[in-house]
Amino acid sequence: MSVDITRGYDSFFGPPSEPISVQNFLDDTASLTFPSASDVLNHASWQNLSEDERVVVEAECSGSIAELKAAVEELWDNPMLSAHLYRAHATAVNAVHCQAGGPVPKGRKRKHLPDPETAEAQPEVRALQEKLDAISLQCWRLNQESAFFMRAAKHSDLNALKHVKKSGHGTLVCNKLSSPSPRFTGTSALNKSAPHRDALVTLTVHNRVPWIHSQLTRFSQHVVLSSQSLADFVRAIPCDSSEMPNEVLDSDGNVVGYSYEREEQAEETMTRSEEGCLLHIEGVAYGDGRPGDDYADKLLAHLERLPAEKRLQITKSPTSLSQTTLASLTLRINQPYWMLHQGNCEHFVVVDEIRLAHPHDPLSGYPLTVHVTPALGYFCKACAKVPAVLTVVGDIRLGESPCLLCMPCWRNMGPPREEDAEQVMVVPLVRHRKVWEDGVGV
Ligand SMILES: [Zn+2]
Ligand SMILES: [Zn+2]
Repeated sequence: MSVDITRGYDSFFGPPSEPISVQNFLDDTASLTFPSASDVLNHASWQNLSEDERVVVEAECSGSIAELKAAVEELWDNPMLSAHLYRAHATAVNAVHCQAGGPVPKGRKRKHLPDPETAEAQPEVRALQEKLDAISLQCWRLNQESAFFMRAAKHSDLNALKHVKKSGHGTLVCNKLSSPSPRFTGTSALNKSAPHRDALVTLTVHNRVPWIHSQLTRFSQHVVLSSQSLADFVRAIPCDSSEMPNEVLDSDGNVVGYSYEREEQAEETMTRSEEGCLLHIEGVAYGDGRPGDDYADKLLAHLERLPAEKRLQITKSPTSLSQTTLASLTLRINQPYWMLHQGNCEHFVVVDEIRLAHPHDPLSGYPLTVHVTPALGYFCKACAKVPAVLTVVGDIRLGESPCLLCMPCWRNMGPPREEDAEQVMVVPLVRHRKVWEDGVGV
C-alpha cells in the first residue's frame, strides 16, 4: 500500500451522520431505564430458561471471562512467551505481505522473516504453540486477503500520553439516588445551577501535513462534557501556535529577543489560548467575542470580498465560543469542522462520538485529552544527542544561522564576542508544555 494512500485514509472523513442535536440526545436518553440485577432475573426470557440452562449461563458469566483474562495476563507477563507471540505475529504479517506482493517503501527490500524456531524453544514456549495450534477457530488467522485490510503503523498512531490527561475543570458528580447512571455538573458559567445529565462528546483534531497541504493527519483527541463551552475545548488543544514565545521589543519597536514570561502571566489569567479564535460548525461561525471585530466578523468580511459564486453561506453566531455549550449545538459525526486561531493556524475538528457517561469514566478534569501525536523534535546540531531547545541566529562561531542547540551546548560556548553580540539573537523553541506538564492550559 503506498504511503499516500495510507495517509489519505486520515484525510477522508465520513460519511457524515444525520444532524444530531446534543440536547435532543440528552432528552431522548433521559427516559432510558438502566436494568438492575433483579429486573434481569424477573425478565420473561430468563424465566423461560430451564434450571440446567440457567446454571450454564451463570457459570459462563461468573467464571469464563475472569479465567480468560487471567490466562491472557499471565501470558503477557511472561517475557519469553510474549516475545514468542510478537515474533510469530510479525512473521505471519510479513508472510501475508509477501504473498500479496504489496509495494515496499522506496529504497527498502522486503525481508523474509524466518519462522520462530519452536522445535528448539523452551518447553513452555512449545507448550504454548501446541495449545495455539490446537485452536479450531480459523476465521481469525491472517490469509492473503487480509493484506487489503492491513497497513503499516503511522506516526499518528502513536500516543505521547501514557495516561488520560485532565485538561480542564469539568467535574463528574455521581447522583445515585435519582439514577444508577452517573450525573455531572459542568464548570461552564451557563450551567452552574442544579446537577444535570451530561453527554460526553469525543472530538479529534486534525492538522494539515506540512509538506502536503491537501492531506490531514490526526493531532489530538479530547473528551468534552456537553455542558462545557467550545472555548473549554479550544483551550485543551495542545497546539504549538498557542505556545509561541513572545517578541521583546525595544523603544523603537524593533525585535530584540524572545521570552516566555508574558505567556506565563497570560496563562494565569487564561486569556492567551482564547486570543483570536474561530470555529465554523454547520454553517455558523463562532467567534472569540473580543471587543470590536472578532475572528468571525473578519471571516464574514473576507467572504464578502469574494465573487458571489465562490461565497460560502456562513452566518455569525450571536454567542461567542465561551458562551456556546456543546449541548446547544447540532453536530454531525464524521463531519470535519474548521477551526482557525492565533492568526493563521488551522485545524479540522471531527466529532467521533456522542455518548452518555460510563461508571468507569474519570470523575473530574474535563475536557480530557486522550491522545496526542508525538511532536517530531530536532536534535542539537552540536552534540546530536539531546533535543534542541533554542535556535541561535547570527552567531558567526556556529557556521550556520539559524542553528538549533541544546542548553548545555549553548552555555558551554560562552557569550559571543562583544563586537558580534548585537547580531546574535537567541530564540527559544516551542516547549510543548501543554502536553508534558500537568495543569498547563487548565
Ligand atoms: Zn493551532
Ligand atoms: Zn547539545
